[in-house]
Amino acid sequence: MKTNALHETNPAANGRLLGWLGFGRNPLEEDEPVPVFPLEDATRMARRRLLEQMNLFLLENGLEITPDNLTVTHGIYAGLNPGLRRKVDRLREDGHTLTQAWIDRATANDDHSEDVDIEMLVQQLERGIADFTQTTSTARDTTRDYGDALAQHVGQLESAPDAGDIISELAQYARAMLQRSRKAEAELRHSEEEAASLRRNLDRARRDAQVDFLTGLPNRRAFEVQLERHYREAEASGEPLCVAFCDIDHFKLVNDVHGHEAGDRILCVVAKTLSRISGEKCHIARHGGEEFVMLFRGSTPTEALAKLDEARADLAARKLVNRRTEQPFGQITFSGGVANVFCHDSPRAALAAADDALYQAKESGRNQIKLAGDRG
Ligand code: GH3
Ligand code: MG
Ligand code: MG
Repeated sequence: MKTNALHETNPAANGRLLGWLGFGRNPLEEDEPVPVFPLEDATRMARRRLLEQMNLFLLENGLEITPDNLTVTHGIYAGLNPGLRRKVDRLREDGHTLTQAWIDRATANDDHSEDVDIEMLVQQLERGIADFTQTTSTARDTTRDYGDALAQHVGQLESAPDAGDIISELAQYARAMLQRSRKAEAELRHSEEEAASLRRNLDRARRDAQVDFLTGLPNRRAFEVQLERHYREAEASGEPLCVAFCDIDHFKLVNDVHGHEAGDRILCVVAKTLSRISGEKCHIARHGGEEFVMLFRGSTPTEALAKLDEARADLAARKLVNRRTEQPFGQITFSGGVANVFCHDSPRAALAAADDALYQAKESGRNQIKLAGDRG
């Protein structure tokens, strides 16, 4: 009968297993030769090493064994959070003590540091591809030139009237060499093509990372970059700049009544409605869930509010029907809040003010747009 290792009843074996995982000591290990686990392979060894590192990290730093700490520790040692790993290494190098408070602070800003990490990795990869393409292309040119020269000499050797056995043997070697160099040339060309395709994939991945897959709108990350740019430019040129938050009203009800897929289609309808007022000076993005964020460059708060209100009225007037069930969705509306960016300390503070105004719009009965107070 096949024995399942997990159901092993031998206490010595269980003790060993715990010992290998770094938990507790095996009471028999002093008397027995060092056990060699029969299934120990590279994956298993890597897992064991990961558990040992996590174990040591938590115990050495006196951290509690909580789900959050386990996740963070796993992120550090499994390579999922290289930013935090670097911070931990730096802290240790500087001789500081790692505390729970430090971990909490370091992980509170994780979103941003991850973006920076990804961008850094992409840049490294791009440089790597560029170097690789350059090297490959040079190697291919050299191989081709060598192959051409060899082909010419082999031809001359073979056609020499008094070529003896040795010469013709040499010519054979040279011909074999020539074949190999042609093959190498073809392989290098293939590598170059692969590098070019990798480059294209990377460009696509970079674009994808800025687009919301459901609505096709830019995502929050892309919006933040745009807002920073428009903020700098508008500040320099003295143009007005506004931001707005929009949130679909009672959207949970749409999901509850019509299902999540229908809810997704409504999200796309709202995205399209808002996109109609967007253009060179008005950018829209999906902020997350059923919330959208916008910026209006060159518009005063009253003008921005009027534009957004037009989109609101447009949507509210539509009679949308669930095309799968023929059931009407009823009136779909959204509420919004607009803030004048330069009346606040930073674009972030202006976004918070627009969010407050959105909350006011919800409180006042929804399906309306409100202006934020000048300081929030
Ligand atoms: P309110 O008018 O106060 O904004 O009410 P609400 O129901 O719109 O707000 P609530 O925050 O209670 O619910 C938002 C809902 O949006 C819950 C969540 O399931 C749904 N939602 C978030 N993202 C998506 C998505 O991508 N697709 C779908 N179908 N639903 C989503
Ligand atoms: Mg919401
Ligand atoms: Mg909502």
